[in-house]
Amino acid sequence: MREKIFIILGSFLLSTIVSAQNLTQQSVDKAREVIDQVIEAYGGSERLTKLNSVVVKFETSNLAVNQSRKPGPPWDENRVVGSSMIDFEKQQFTTNAKSMSERQEFSNGTIINGDKSYQVDYRANTASPIAEPNFINSAGPFIRVTPALLVKQLMQRGYTVHYLGQADVDGRAHDVLSLVMEVGPAISLYFDQKTHMLNKSERVVGTFGLIGYRFGDYKKVDGIPFNQHFKLFINEENNMKRQNIHTQINPTTTEYTQLKQNLVQVSATQPDPLRRQKVSDGVYLIGGSGTYAMFIEMDDHVIAVGGTAGITERIALLKEVVPNKPIKYGVLTHHHSDHILGGQAYAEEGAVVIAASAHEKVIRDSTENKKLKIETVNKNRTFKSGDREVRVIDIGPTEHTEHLLVVYLPEEAIIFEADHFGLRSAGNVSPASPATRAFAQSLQRNKIKVKLILSAHSAIVASGDDLQSALDKAKNMASKD
Ligand SMILES: [Zn+2]
Repeated sequence: MREKIFIILGSFLLSTIVSAQNLTQQSVDKAREVIDQVIEAYGGSERLTKLNSVVVKFETSNLAVNQSRKPGPPWDENRVVGSSMIDFEKQQFTTNAKSMSERQEFSNGTIINGDKSYQVDYRANTASPIAEPNFINSAGPFIRVTPALLVKQLMQRGYTVHYLGQADVDGRAHDVLSLVMEVGPAISLYFDQKTHMLNKSERVVGTFGLIGYRFGDYKKVDGIPFNQHFKLFINEENNMKRQNIHTQINPTTTEYTQLKQNLVQVSATQPDPLRRQKVSDGVYLIGGSGTYAMFIEMDDHVIAVGGTAGITERIALLKEVVPNKPIKYGVLTHHHSDHILGGQAYAEEGAVVIAASAHEKVIRDSTENKKLKIETVNKNRTFKSGDREVRVIDIGPTEHTEHLLVVYLPEEAIIFEADHFGLRSAGNVSPASPATRAFAQSLQRNKIKVKLILSAHSAIVASGDDLQSALDKAKNMASKD
């Protein structure tokens, strides 16, 4: 008996080894079979070949996971309306999004159209040219959430496709294909074995983890099924859902790529390499690529402010000019995921992290460093050494977060803040957002007069006048409405 099992097992192993030698061929053959079924289900190759342009109007509900006013769930929900347009032949892509939530005010657009490509801010009424427009990079996110266009990719890039296997989704058997697009990691596409509709996709993106989509509610547009909604999951946690209100195929698209005439053209955004700016005696703003920290020299130590990406490199640049003073304190402005990254770096420096009491837990949970020391601030705390005075003040609540630590140097009237104000380029002031207005009101309430404003996401040191001009612009807009 035992021998018999052995023989069966042996032949089983043998067969797996033999097929393993042909695994590539088997996978490619099976993928072709599935692709053929899928193309048929999506209207056939003729229709899909002729599918050149698509316009989708949508309503999105974004869950502000780790980006809400409170440190934990339930997360704030932000509603956005917008549309996207793609034209493969002309290599044009446009998208725009307008916030419908009171908490946020924005209305932005991107136009990718060769040398007439722009980043548009409809609130500020400005258009800034895109120096190196890239059709496929810009359109990729739209293609990835539009199953019919992914099927078009399967037709064109079938040579990259492998069959990954079968999987169960909601109790139904699915064939899973792996597609490699022109850019980005491979995507796993889950097609229902009966309907051949795409119900799910997944890919692993370095810094985020597992990004997944669920598609549903298919409706045919000129014979091609289009999904009426999708949900986005980051590491299996729901992050947003989108309802497609209207889908049009092969419409005329010229209206989408034309700049509105009243837009003011502003200079293109410049590359922003890591650099150190001396703002005042012993006060530095160090950063690049959208994240910055402030460093203040005290008698025998340094106070660091801000917790965004790249703190370690920013500290290294500080040590070139302040080599002999350790960082004693690192102030984290608030609990949002992109503002607590510095916790780990400060702990490694042996510095004490200063944070709002309400944010202590989130910060502790985010670092693996057991030596992390946190001192919490309830309303404010003052640090003095020599003739330098540094105030850490909780100016919350604002539209952005319930607690927000700012760091203020009363002598120089310099303030560091995060997420409430910033200039994209010198002199390019946008109308104040609800968060900016809340920030300005909090400054007034706390009797803080500012000359210079340093921001966690801005390379440019703004002035108190810039803030006033943003408030005036918002007021003018409101009176025009
Ligand atoms: Zn934030």
